[in-house]
Amino acid sequence: MTDLVVVGGGIVGASTCYYAKQLGAKCALIERDGIASHASGYAFGGLHPRVVAKTESEMPRFAFESFREHEELHSQLESARLGSSTWRRRSSISIAWNEFEAGLFKAQAVDDSTGLKWLEARELRELEPRISSEALGGLMISNSAEVDSSALTKTLFELADPDLHLDEIVSVELVYDRINGLRTKQGTVLKGDAFVFSMGPWSSEALSWFGVDCNIKPLKGQILRLRVDGPVFQQSFSTNGNYMSTKPDGLLWIGTTEEDAEFDESPTIEGRREIIHVLERMLADPAIFEVIQQTACLRPIAPDGELVLGCVPGVSNAFIGTGGGRKGILYGPLMGKYLANLALATLSSDRWSSLTPERFEKT
Ligand SMILES: Cc1cc2nc3c(=O)[nH]c(=O)nc-3n(C[C@H](O)[C@H](O)[C@H](O)COP(=O)(O)OP(=O)(O)OC[C@H]3O[C@@H](n4cnc5c(N)ncnc54)[C@H](O)[C@@H]3O)c2cc1C
Repeated sequence: MTDLVVVGGGIVGASTCYYAKQLGAKCALIERDGIASHASGYAFGGLHPRVVAKTESEMPRFAFESFREHEELHSQLESARLGSSTWRRRSSISIAWNEFEAGLFKAQAVDDSTGLKWLEARELRELEPRISSEALGGLMISNSAEVDSSALTKTLFELADPDLHLDEIVSVELVYDRINGLRTKQGTVLKGDAFVFSMGPWSSEALSWFGVDCNIKPLKGQILRLRVDGPVFQQSFSTNGNYMSTKPDGLLWIGTTEEDAEFDESPTIEGRREIIHVLERMLADPAIFEVIQQTACLRPIAPDGELVLGCVPGVSNAFIGTGGGRKGILYGPLMGKYLANLALATLSSDRWSSLTPERFEKT
């Protein structure tokens, strides 16, 4: 008998299986399109634990603990030689283009203990002479890192080694307050003791099966991978939600757009133009580059912008994890660890109580 059935093979689903295996559980994973075939396979991979949120929000603490979980995962993978970890610490510099931004950044960098440092324009260009001379300076954030999100998701899946079903879940069979089985498009009914739904931006469907009124929206983003002449960039640079970093593949990755395009994941000419415009703004002389690849994918966004994580209300063996938004790769491993522990009843559900789907109305 399968202990845990997980729906969705992105970073949340793969992490859930990985941690469930560590707890000795037998898992099955159902994935419609392939492991890491959506956002978890095409994300930028930046791990930035700073979160601006309401004072009562648990998100800043979740982000901080998520960052630590990635570090821990990295040492586990390295020390046990469990596949290669792609985690690397990488400073990130937010560029200030006007006095308002410069003032904000300087105010944040008042105390060295935060890992934030204000760089004057001269210091910024000493570090990276290719940044545009229009930059007034930058906020250097040392507490940040990067991973290859595709490789990480696939590694976690391979190490967990669940029974993989390449199929789509279309409905749930409920008996009183428990799931009895999941019905697939190909007509199978999958049984298990507990069920985790990690369906990314398609999670509204799962929530509707349980009568939870929560619209998880897809927010499309596009990235360009460029071959650029000259030495690699040693830091990651950002401006207004756009990032630029040389990745281990030797290419400069730059993006990311934010578009409301429903579930359309195709790269567009408009997306490419927008990103090239960002490149032209960031670099003094961006003339020499070649577009090697353009990708697009969808971030899952909850109505209040926070994670939807925990027990499904009214169903004793169903759990959900979604809403990672722009930081879903950062949050993914900790979400998976928490879901595995909840589903296998090694943890009570009050740990991240404000993030549970209970905050949404039942229909
Ligand atoms: C352009 C871009 C850049 C990003 N950059 C970063 C970044 O730098 N740092 C960061 O932390 N985050 C980043 N993100 C966000 C991050 O990629 C996502 O938040 C995260 O990957 C979501 O993971 P997930 O497992 O929830 O969903 P997904 O990766 O979307 O996986 C969900 C899976 O569920 C499957 N599925 C859905 N419904 C069913 C069903 N009924 N039956 C079977 N399978 C089903 C889907 O096929 C899919 O494979 C970025 C996102 C985008 C779009």
